[in-house]
Amino acid sequence: MYQRYDDIFSRITEAPHWFDEYAVPRYCEFTPSKLANIYAGEAALAEVTCQVCKHAFRVAFSRANWSSGTIAEAIRSRTLDFGDPPNYCCGNADMSSEPRRVIEYWRRHDPRYTRQEGKNVIVTDFAAFTRWVRDSSLEVDIRPDWVAPL
Ligand SMILES: [Zn+2]
Repeated sequence: MYQRYDDIFSRITEAPHWFDEYAVPRYCEFTPSKLANIYAGEAALAEVTCQVCKHAFRVAFSRANWSSGTIAEAIRSRTLDFGDPPNYCCGNADMSSEPRRVIEYWRRHDPRYTRQEGKNVIVTDFAAFTRWVRDSSLEVDIRPDWVAPL
């Protein structure tokens, strides 16, 4: 179960626009540079629903909350899963969230912009290496079989 951020919710009347990898509410527009994990090389913003009340959330993924393989593989195999929903809707934050769809998918750290030097990886083009690139081919439905259509 995630923390309930009442100290934040109580001071901001508008609904959060998205939740980060730790289910912390965010009020800015999503961009991968706003992830909790500032070192991420891969990111996704996905829509999930509360298993109980069906409230829809936009939640972020990075290596901070998805470490079993890549996010891209998890999208293709429909196994990407946020776990418990953000602690914001109906008070059943110990239930599961239901994966629905990927809204945005981003990656960076392309090895084309590096070279191997002995045991070290040298970045040859820092600007290109650190630039986030969106891949809309991974912005797809990820609803697994255990989740009923809305
Ligand atoms: Zn709910």
